[in-house]
Amino acid sequence: MADYMVKAITSDGAIRVVAVDTTELCNKAQKIHNLSATASAALGRALTAVTIMGGMLKSSDDAVTLQLNGGGPIGRVVAVSNGRAQVKGYVSNPLIELPLNEKGKLDVGGAIGKNGMLSIIRDLGLKEPYVGQVPLVNGEVAEDLTYYYANSEQLPTAVALGVLVDVDYSVRAAGGFVLQLLPGAMEEDIDKVEKAVAAISSVTEMLDNGKKPEDIVSQLLEGYEIEYFDNELPVYQCDCSRERTDKALISIGEKELQKLIEEDGKAEITCHFCDNVYNYTKEQLEELLKSAR
Ligand SMILES: [Zn+2]
Repeated sequence: MADYMVKAITSDGAIRVVAVDTTELCNKAQKIHNLSATASAALGRALTAVTIMGGMLKSSDDAVTLQLNGGGPIGRVVAVSNGRAQVKGYVSNPLIELPLNEKGKLDVGGAIGKNGMLSIIRDLGLKEPYVGQVPLVNGEVAEDLTYYYANSEQLPTAVALGVLVDVDYSVRAAGGFVLQLLPGAMEEDIDKVEKAVAAISSVTEMLDNGKKPEDIVSQLLEGYEIEYFDNELPVYQCDCSRERTDKALISIGEKELQKLIEEDGKAEITCHFCDNVYNYTKEQLEELLKSAR
């Protein structure tokens, strides 16, 4: 079944929720990167979060990047989405495996670490991207993102992200939601929503039991009139190409390119996001060198 993202707002404009099923795209990430169970959960949570953030972008040409750099054994976690719900990501050490944590869950916080930052980079087609950064809370991703929203955007937000990894390393269920109280929200809305968020014990359990993102929304916003808009079908899709790799090579500059030709006589560029390999012969590098001049 295809992944699916719903966007909802209460008719009074007080609360908005974006909920998503990302099972397929997390599965694709697992296969591309050969992720361990812990790495699958870590990258899957980041991919789910960035899918939702991508769904909140105003233009389809905009893009958002989520980076977690906590000093843990997984290294860097990077996830990117554009406004067309095309999502991609990678971690530095995809094979890292840790024992389950004290709750019996995959130890995402241990893998990511908490001595570092969460960064959100929004490319809105302006000259400079917008960069927001907060210190990590616990490296579990959802709490870190909640803290980011409270701090950088002053929006009271609840975030839930989950990835259920099967014994064969396939992703059995993945998804999440972001719920935000908009400026029109009242004290009573806050109380109601807090209870509803606390009542959802596990998003992945809901999805695994055949529930849809709409079911998550209706449970969160019970008692409200709900309007849906702009639902989307997110996919794992890399936008790398030979042309882009050419440009990247040209951008290292004439001197570096000359050095590469003399010392290696060839180049092999691997895309972090999809593991595609782009090979360059000496002649092809010499062609690029002409453009670099
Ligand atoms: Zn790629």
